[in-house]
Amino acid sequence: MEPVILVHGGAGAISDDAKAQELLAGVKGAAKTGYKVLTSGGGVVDAVEAAVRSMEDEEIFNAGLGSVLNLEGEVEMDASIMVGSDLSAGAVTVVKDIKNPISLARLVMDKTDHVLLAAEGAKKFAQLHKVVPLQPGALVTDASKKALAKWREKQVEASAELGTVGAVGIDSDGGLAAATSTGGRQGKLAGRSSDTCMIGSGTYADDNIGAVSTTGHGETIAKFCLAHSIIKAMERGQSAEEATQNCVELMTKRLNNTAGAITLSNRGEVGVAFSTNRMSWAYQKGDHLYFGIDKNERHIEKV
Ligand code: ASP
Repeated sequence: MEPVILVHGGAGAISDDAKAQELLAGVKGAAKTGYKVLTSGGGVVDAVEAAVRSMEDEEIFNAGLGSVLNLEGEVEMDASIMVGSDLSAGAVTVVKDIKNPISLARLVMDKTDHVLLAAEGAKKFAQLHKVVPLQPGALVTDASKKALAKWREKQVEASAELGTVGAVGIDSDGGLAAATSTGGRQGKLAGRSSDTCMIGSGTYADDNIGAVSTTGHGETIAKFCLAHSIIKAMERGQSAEEATQNCVELMTKRLNNTAGAITLSNRGEVGVAFSTNRMSWAYQKGDHLYFGIDKNERHIEKV
């Protein structure tokens, strides 16, 4: 089977075309980073982690550096990761001053028998595993401060131009993994947890079926268990593309809010769908990179 790494850079009302180009450059880079890890001896879970880390490190995405601020002006982040072979999973929520929350979620998965660690406990766990926290406020950017100020004025989601990040991957043996990381929603209360840290809502992977990472209005995604809904639809026989499209549409109709998702089936078929106006995504398969941000748009480039 041909390995694939598929990533998204968040679904939203991205109206600025220059920003759209930056997001596209970011997701293309992330897909290539993950693919390189996968094809140079790394496992599929290492590959999705590396792809997400590369986006957490870029200020343009709403994850890691550049995360949106809560109403107290602080960054509180969520992330989750899952491996399809044995359904092992790890997640963190409301973590502060951690450069790469996805790697902390991976440590929760690898080093504990828990699925989700929160806030101070997660930070203590990080230190126990030699993850040195950043200086308080190090992840706050000028853009995120401006976005919060704009939100306070008009309650407008200025962060809609930013994006949660995620990756799904399949290796040559059909092994699947998924990872998702976010700063959350603009205007959130301190202490709010998102869909992104919830296994079955933000992230899911099962080698028998497929792998999914979602983005969009977190409370809506959580109520609908969007990632697992897509998995269940594939289990009922829908293709990755049909299941992703159908579940995003169903959720949007039922709960009147928007989302996006990326999916790989256990045969390596790709599904990409969003009910927002845009979602940046990219995947590498062999020496070709596929990417897009607008509806019904797909570009192909030779790597
Ligand atoms: N799902 C994220 C949250 O609600 C936000 C996003 O995906 O843009 O925190």
